[in-house]
Amino acid sequence: MKKLFFLASLLLAFGWILTGVFLPDCTFAMGNDPSAKEKAKGKSGKESLDSLPDVIVKARMNEKESDILAQRLALFYAQEYPKYFGTPPKRKPTIVILDTKSGYEKILGEKGEVYGHYLPALNKIYTYQQENLEGVLFHELAHYWLQENSMERRALWFEEGFASFFESPEFQPDASITFKIKNFRNEKTIANEMDYIPLAKFLHTVDLRYEVSKTQARAIFTWLNDQGKLPAFVQLYLENASYDISGADALREVTGMTMEIMDTSLQNWMRQK
Ligand SMILES: [Zn+2]
Repeated sequence: MKKLFFLASLLLAFGWILTGVFLPDCTFAMGNDPSAKEKAKGKSGKESLDSLPDVIVKARMNEKESDILAQRLALFYAQEYPKYFGTPPKRKPTIVILDTKSGYEKILGEKGEVYGHYLPALNKIYTYQQENLEGVLFHELAHYWLQENSMERRALWFEEGFASFFESPEFQPDASITFKIKNFRNEKTIANEMDYIPLAKFLHTVDLRYEVSKTQARAIFTWLNDQGKLPAFVQLYLENASYDISGADALREVTGMTMEIMDTSLQNWMRQK
């Protein structure tokens, strides 16, 4: 058993080294087939993206745009993924960036979310050219990360809270990424305290149709992050998910607070920030 564990650790470590080597300076190399570059040039003369080492990207972009996106995707993975997960993802998702929203809606139909959509069974992310493209991709990639790292069902508040934590990135001059505490979800804010749902109830809520619920789910993540407890919480949640899908135990353990104290602290956080 020990031997097996050792072998597994070695393999994992090797996987990380490989990923580490490939990611930082990856660019959208056009593949080995010399004609691929020609083929990839559409009628407009623009090049489409080829691929990153950890994701496959299909999009129509010029070289400068694709370079920037490649750097940012690589940076996001290198900076954030190891904080939450101990092993690299096994599968490579395909990201399809359509030119227009109507093209996106044609493919996804009714079930598509507004900005982007991850289909776990196909391991595919669909989105379209838009202002906050990176944020949308980070959100969807976070869904993929969870999918890769847990066989268990997860509460919607956890799933969406985690993904939406990454959806409003700011790219800093020192080549790091920070994530906005407040974002577009707060427009319909919980400043109206009637909309706040006590955690004891909220954690068991499966309905996140209301914007205020999504705002509250996201706020739990920014609040935990502000205390430096987000990675520990995410890890514990995934560990406990088979018997505590609500995340209540993990929240109590990581914060050392009762539900009532968490409610007060979280509400204060939401009011201030
Ligand atoms: Zn989502």
